Amino acid sequence: MGTGLHKGVWANIQSGNNDIDKVGVHFSTSFYQKIGNGNTVRFWEDVWNTHGLPLKHVFPRLYALEIDKECLVSDRWKLVNTVWSGNWNWRCEPRGRVIDELAGLQHVLNSLSLTTCDIDKWQWSLATNGKFTVHKLASLIYRNILGPFSIGCNHIWNNWTPIKVNICIWRAANNRLPTLSALNSKGIIPASLLCPLCDEATETIDHVLYECILARRIWLKCWRWWGIVVPTYFSIKDTIFRSLAQTDSKLVSKALQGVFYVLMWSIWKWRNRVVHASNNEKDAILIEDIFSQIQQLSLLWISNRCKKFNLDWGRWILAPKEVFR
Ligand SMILES: [Zn+2]
Repeated sequence: MGTGLHKGVWANIQSGNNDIDKVGVHFSTSFYQKIGNGNTVRFWEDVWNTHGLPLKHVFPRLYALEIDKECLVSDRWKLVNTVWSGNWNWRCEPRGRVIDELAGLQHVLNSLSLTTCDIDKWQWSLATNGKFTVHKLASLIYRNILGPFSIGCNHIWNNWTPIKVNICIWRAANNRLPTLSALNSKGIIPASLLCPLCDEATETIDHVLYECILARRIWLKCWRWWGIVVPTYFSIKDTIFRSLAQTDSKLVSKALQGVFYVLMWSIWKWRNRVVHASNNEKDAILIEDIFSQIQQLSLLWISNRCKKFNLDWGRWILAPKEVFR
C-alpha cells in the first residue's frame, strides 16, 4: 500500500487514524482490496468491498462453518461451466438461519468475476478514482474541520469573510491562539502575563477578544452601528453560533456574524502589532481607531463575496441591516 509514499509520512498518517476519524473522515475503514485474480486477498479476513468490513463480520455464522479461515477469494469463487459460483468448504451443510446468510453472501458475490490478467489492488474509498493521496486526505480533513456544523470543531464557516479570518476564529474558539496564558501553559514563560492592550489582567483568549476594556469599546461601537442591544455577557461561541446575531433575516445574521469575525480577527492583529512594536511605537498603535478599519474591511470582503446586494459605503455605515433586505 502507498507505493511511492514516504514511509515516515505513511507512519504519521496511520498513527493519526483515530484523530482523522474523529473529525468525521472515515479513514480507518477506507481501504479495501479491488479483486483482480483473487489470488492474494483472503476471502473472509480481508476487506475487499466498499462496505468496509471483512466478510467474517458480515456473515459470522458462515464463517464459523468455514474449515479454512485463511482461504483466498480465488479458492471460494470459481468458474464452473461458464458460471461463477461458490466453491464452499463447510464443516457441515448450512441449515436454518445460516441459509439466510448464504443467500446474503450469494447476493454480495453475484457481480464478482475474477480475471486472469489483473492482480488484486488496494483501493481507497474516499477518492473517486480509488487512489490514495496525501493531498486528497488533507483536503477532506480541512473541509470537515472548517465545514459548517463539523463535529467537535466549534466553528461555523462564514464564506462572506476570507479563509484567514475563519481560521483565526476557529483557532480562537478552540483556544489555539498563542495568548500569553496559552504560551505559559505550554512551558514558554513570557516576561509578563498581563494583557498587551490594557496591561491590567491576565491575557486569555476571552479577555483579549472581548473582556478587555479596549476590546469592549470596539464591540460597543459595533453594537451601536448595527442597532443591537448590548448583551450583559457573551462569548466567542455566541458569535459563531449566531445567538448574538439573531435577527428576522438569515442574510442579516450572516452579515453580522461576518462583521463579528472581522472584528475579532482585527483585534487579534492589533494585539499582535502591539506585542511586536518597540516601546516608542506602542502608544501610537494603542490609540489607533481600528473600528473604522473593521467597517472598511468588512464592507470590502462581504461586498466582494456577496454581489447580489448593493453595498455602498454610505448605506453600510448608516443602516447596514437595510442593505440585506
Ligand atoms: Zn486587556
